[in-house]
Amino acid sequence: MLTPSEIERRLDRILLRVAKPGRYVGGEKNITVKDWATTETHVALIFPDIYDIGVSNVGLKILYDQVNMRNDALAERAYSPWHDMEEQMRAAGIPLYSLESYHPLAAFDIIGFSLPYETLYTNALNALDLAGIPVRASERDESHPFVIAGGHSTTNPEPMHAFIDVFAIGEGEEIIHDIIDTVQRGKHTGLAREAILRELARIPGAYVPRFYHVHYQEDHTLERVEPLVEGLANPVIKRIVAKLPPPPTKFIVPNIEIVHNRVSVEIMRGCTRGCRFCQAGMITRPVRERSVDEVVQAADDAIRSTGFEELALLSLSSSDYTQVLDLVTAVSEHFDKQHLSIALPSLRIESVSVDLMDKLRDRRGTGFTLAPEAATERMRRIINKFIPDDEIINTTREIYRRGWTTIKLYFMIGHPAETLEDVQAIADLCKRVLAEGRKVIGYKARVHAGVSTFVPKPQTPFQWVSCDTAEQIKAKQNLLKRVLNDKNIKLSWTHPEDTLLEALLSRGDRRTAEVIYTAWKNGAIFDAWQEDRKYETWISAFAEHGLDPAFYTHRQRRTDEIFPWEHISSGVRKNFLFQDFRQSLEGQIRVDCRLQCFACGILPTFSNARRENPGEYWKCPEVKSPAPRRELPLPVVGDYRVPH
Ligand code: SF4
Repeated sequence: MLTPSEIERRLDRILLRVAKPGRYVGGEKNITVKDWATTETHVALIFPDIYDIGVSNVGLKILYDQVNMRNDALAERAYSPWHDMEEQMRAAGIPLYSLESYHPLAAFDIIGFSLPYETLYTNALNALDLAGIPVRASERDESHPFVIAGGHSTTNPEPMHAFIDVFAIGEGEEIIHDIIDTVQRGKHTGLAREAILRELARIPGAYVPRFYHVHYQEDHTLERVEPLVEGLANPVIKRIVAKLPPPPTKFIVPNIEIVHNRVSVEIMRGCTRGCRFCQAGMITRPVRERSVDEVVQAADDAIRSTGFEELALLSLSSSDYTQVLDLVTAVSEHFDKQHLSIALPSLRIESVSVDLMDKLRDRRGTGFTLAPEAATERMRRIINKFIPDDEIINTTREIYRRGWTTIKLYFMIGHPAETLEDVQAIADLCKRVLAEGRKVIGYKARVHAGVSTFVPKPQTPFQWVSCDTAEQIKAKQNLLKRVLNDKNIKLSWTHPEDTLLEALLSRGDRRTAEVIYTAWKNGAIFDAWQEDRKYETWISAFAEHGLDPAFYTHRQRRTDEIFPWEHISSGVRKNFLFQDFRQSLEGQIRVDCRLQCFACGILPTFSNARRENPGEYWKCPEVKSPAPRRELPLPVVGDYRVPH
């Protein structure tokens, strides 16, 4: 194994041959460099995309701080090298290394991947390979690090089961410590790797796929998942932190231009709105908020320690933060004298959102973003994001009136039961909004329509439905391209192949792992990058393994089907999701569950955490006594039909 100084020497010879060498040298402000020799456990945290994207990832930053808070452990970072650098590294025999100390990743005890989205999977395989660590978990031995992964995509970990030793399901702030403690204990007592993995599998929220066997039926759907070791959880229930710990404030200041050079402070976690297409909204429940004082203090500390000129107040739905007006007032007053741009993304479509943005007015960009997601009231009922048309028009009029010239409207096509009339309505709504703008500010008014395509994600009420085919997506996109012909309306859309790949990877089962391996071997990496997408490589990989992509993407699921992700629980009951799905087909909406709890399953699952945190900090009702977790059988409803 190369030493850090050998790696550094070899890097000196290649760095001037690659674009943006600053991506690969570390040494940024606010990094933590500990003494390798006197620190017991070494953790490498990897965001498997390029530095420019990964360095601002908040999830990884949280874990970086959590590990580095310990005296007995250190965390260092690595990202995927871009093609030119990978080529040079392989030619010079340089393994993937950490940016803090230049140690090769193979020298670490634990490798932790952040996998927020599925199109990072092949990059994760490539990172392991470049690090000289066997890509397959089954080929690792005592000399290799434990490879763990977390992030939203691991809500369905099965497509990556062959490559990851331990999945950390849910929130990482506490489980990362349990994992480090368990590895340390195992090493102190001389346990073999397999025995340590068994111990890791007993940590609540940890899923070690090798200790679970999947039984399939003749039609290739799942029959059941069987734990192979007595006492292992089934399902594995996600971890949450009962109270959000203080947010990170020492953000790493890159030496090069990156995508988001800003401070991000998470103001709340979870969402109670219940949009049926939104996986994040379902899997991050319950809602927990930070106080205004804590957010302002954290923002102040972070701005001071970085010198950044942009602050993002993050959440899934900012308008739903209980004291959003107080927060915006406090933040804008606090930074009144500073040249700081403050972003408050994910606002609801209502006039109060315009008031909020107005308070941040001289610090914002030129566009105002709204996400109706669908253009007819019928569709907005189906997806449970109900906003009357009039409210959309009134809000957009108010936005133009207050001086914004561009409104960005985000939509999705491909929702269940969508017709071409619903797609046409997207164009009509954009034109109506532009017409309102013209009434107010004349020909300066602009609309930007961003149209993505819906993917029915695991652990959501829409997990039973099929994804649109490429032909359906193209027909809908072509309709929009044809009718949205005003030069002041800009249309952008997601390539159908990007959507289908996301659907294949997010809805896959264990057999998909071999497809991922083959696609990577055949050159598929950086799948999230349009110019690098190799869709044909993926389709060939499915064929090579005798699998039909349509089985995963274009098949409506039976009501009694066992999903590949069913042994992983976000705390939200399948029964709840199904009832919500049926209500959607009937056009029924569910109100914000802060107003009326729909018993989604979160409270019985996390009743202790709720009881220990009484009051308004959690947005679920208080509980007095522990309630046993019960999974009621799904009602026998026969086949359902999604009209298309
Ligand atoms: S337990 Fe009730 S209030 Fe809490 S997230 Fe679920 S439905 Fe909403």
